[in-house]
Amino acid sequence: MYTHNLKDFDPEIAKYITLERQRQEDGLEMIPSENFVSPAVLQALGSILTNKYSEGYSGKRYYGGCENIDFVETLAIERAKQLFGAEHVNVQPLSGAPANIAVYSAIMEPGDTILGMDLGHGGHLTHGHPVTWMAKIFNFIRYKTTASGEIDYDNLRAMAKEHKPKVILVGYSAYSRDIDYAKVKTIADEIGAITMADIAHIAGLIAGGQMNNPVPLFDVVTTTTHKTLRGPRGGMIMCKKSLAKQIDKAVFPGFQGGPHEHNIAAKAVAFKEALAPEFKDYAAQIKKNAKILETEFKNRDYKICFGGTDNHLLLIDITPKGLTGKEAQHALDIAGITLNKNMIPDEPRSAMDPSGIRLGTPALTTRGMKENEMKIIASWIDKAIQNWQNETELQKIRAAVREFTKNFPLYPTLPTL
Ligand SMILES: *Cc1c(COP(=O)(O)O)cnc(C)c1O
Repeated sequence: MYTHNLKDFDPEIAKYITLERQRQEDGLEMIPSENFVSPAVLQALGSILTNKYSEGYSGKRYYGGCENIDFVETLAIERAKQLFGAEHVNVQPLSGAPANIAVYSAIMEPGDTILGMDLGHGGHLTHGHPVTWMAKIFNFIRYKTTASGEIDYDNLRAMAKEHKPKVILVGYSAYSRDIDYAKVKTIADEIGAITMADIAHIAGLIAGGQMNNPVPLFDVVTTTTHKTLRGPRGGMIMCKKSLAKQIDKAVFPGFQGGPHEHNIAAKAVAFKEALAPEFKDYAAQIKKNAKILETEFKNRDYKICFGGTDNHLLLIDITPKGLTGKEAQHALDIAGITLNKNMIPDEPRSAMDPSGIRLGTPALTTRGMKENEMKIIASWIDKAIQNWQNETELQKIRAAVREFTKNFPLYPTLPTL
């Protein structure tokens, strides 16, 4: 049987995994949707569970030999229920986008109307952006934020009354404020709409008790497991018991085939980590770190969208500093600081070269960085922005970043390939 290992058999792939590990270790990862999973999560993810077919659900599988798999999936579900106070959980969605698509197909008919947050105001592509297939099937209507950065709840109510959507959807990828779920629920109740929240970005902050939790209140909540929740790349759906059958049927057989049980095992491990008391401290530190960045950037006259942050991320209009989001992303890449260009509310430029940059603290916080480190990093970002056309200055920051990250070893116990 097999005796070869990766490095010997496939040195090319091994090389790029090693280089990527090095990149992750000696740069500053500030893309707000990224994080670093634990070695325990990696072990489950790289396990032989990947070999098993298990279409169906625990106790009701289409294949034999699922006795161990059933325990794994049930543990993942029970832990998720405990973590979020959910009545019913489906851990099979392969990622955030498939989770949303499964929900849409579970609770709507083609042509039905759904009211969601505008992409340019922080919403997500899967919330009905015209480039998606879902936008061809369902009728998406979009609400926006106010100039001060709050969701415009009055406008949301007016739109709900006018369009009578079957579903009201909240959730975001580039918005930095919390959501008043009770207010949204009241509006939905006024028109008899289903409430759906997509907490992909902030699930870890909710699990850690640092942000409002829509799960006890809303009909359906979707999430990814790989962002602030710090699990493997994947999705999950939580819902009321009354929708359980519909949701499960929509995921399988409606939309997906065999579940990825190695991934579900890794989700279970991540949920166990998130249930531990230390995770609350982690979530609190993510927020504190973001708040420090907010202060540091405000002190340097940066234009923060939505007026500031209540979560893990900041959206900054960088154009008053004399460059675009794309140019800023490129300069910071050279400096070893990874973030992404992003549209700002009512973006006057294009999606490929927008006005903003989006940055966040979950990954840095996982490495153990705190307030003092945030201050240093903010000063480097500012320096890189000011010197965005000066390669020598950017390389100087790169060297400093490389030295700095050595003090925060990422995977000290993980063997090399
Ligand atoms: C990231 C994200 C998704 C999509 O998740 P994928 O795992 O990339 O498919 C969906 N909704 C929101 C709000 C997100 O932030």
